[in-house]
Amino acid sequence: MNNPVAQSSEPRVNLLGMTRAQLEQFFVELGDKKFRAQQVMKWIHQMGVIDFEQMTNIGKNLREKLQAIAEIRPPEIVSQKDSEDGTRKWAIRVEGGGLVEAVLIPEGDRATLCVSSQVGCSLDCSFCSTGKQGFQRDLTAAEIIGQVWLAIDSYNAFNSGNKRVVTNVVMMGMGEPLLNFDNVVSAMDLMLEDLAYGLSKRRVTLSTSGVVPALDKLATCSEVSLAISLHAPNDALRNELVPINRKYPIAELLRSAREYIDAQSDSKRVVTVEYTLIAGVNDSKEQARELAQLLRDFPCKINLIPFNTFAQSDYRRPSGNAVSRFWQVLVDAGFTVTVRTTRGDDIDAACGQLVGQVVDKTRRAERHRQAVETQAVRMV
Ligand code: SAH
Ligand code: SF4
Repeated sequence: MNNPVAQSSEPRVNLLGMTRAQLEQFFVELGDKKFRAQQVMKWIHQMGVIDFEQMTNIGKNLREKLQAIAEIRPPEIVSQKDSEDGTRKWAIRVEGGGLVEAVLIPEGDRATLCVSSQVGCSLDCSFCSTGKQGFQRDLTAAEIIGQVWLAIDSYNAFNSGNKRVVTNVVMMGMGEPLLNFDNVVSAMDLMLEDLAYGLSKRRVTLSTSGVVPALDKLATCSEVSLAISLHAPNDALRNELVPINRKYPIAELLRSAREYIDAQSDSKRVVTVEYTLIAGVNDSKEQARELAQLLRDFPCKINLIPFNTFAQSDYRRPSGNAVSRFWQVLVDAGFTVTVRTTRGDDIDAACGQLVGQVVDKTRRAERHRQAVETQAVRMV
């Protein structure tokens, strides 16, 4: 970003995904003052203004300069659907033609936005439709924070000053956030930044399947809440379900997650352990006992996710009784355990159902093949 003015023939730089530090650097390189960053951030993320012309506390000269070299461009909404239960789902087109989805799940006095970090995913977990579609590309920081911006904008909430539209964010949509490290960290920075969305660090959660070196690094630069996708009580089974386990086995993942929590300033934090229950695969009472044993000294709460079926998968969802049995073993062992409820059923917003409706109906099979996984989640 050396001398942006001189690069006016270049594509315009998108300010939407820039952190405060990056935006300050941008204005300094432009020969202006650092504090412009604060003004522009408030316009973008607190007032929802993306037209420089409307930024009335910025002089005409600078506005014109900005218009020549920069832009504030959220990703494009392809469709928006509302569920009877209040869940709202957006299909979002990102540059290059890929589609991702974001889902907002209101629940009582909170509303959790589930955000995607990549188009597809390279990790190929056996029960995940995103994994089946392969990896296309990382989302930019603008495309990640743009999902938050679009969600608030779609309720016209920037104007009404209603900050409660998005109270929590979970990085549990499509993709493995730790494999898109810098962009995800920048976007989460903006979620927490007072000049932007000002969410508390407890209300932003990153979920990872266990990219251990990246998780070790995250501990040095992030304070968000952590969820780990465990899904199995031993390495033999986890190797099958979550192939990255062959590289970074359970003990390594738990070590890294514990260190992440220990590095945080507040001592009361715990890791959320996600466990997708698949009938006949990882849902027996014995496996619940083994899980309780594995996690006995680990600071966590457990979130059970009954498997959501999708084409191309032979796995089945366990019965309600099987889920209860598994839950009971863990509760009896003293754990805090929640079961993730399916939300937005009628608009295909539950895990494994996303992106379907935006594609031509005649391409139903293809659509399922490419189904994008985003989590409609009840969290922390
Ligand atoms: N890549 C990250 C975040 C996205 S997936 C991760 O793996 O943690 C978010 C959660 O949904 C993960 O725990 C994932 O294992 C789970 N999940 C994926 N496919 C699912 C399905 N078909 N049914 C239920 N949960 C699923
Ligand atoms: Fe990727 Fe997460 Fe799906 Fe595994 S569960 S394939 S890491 S998105």
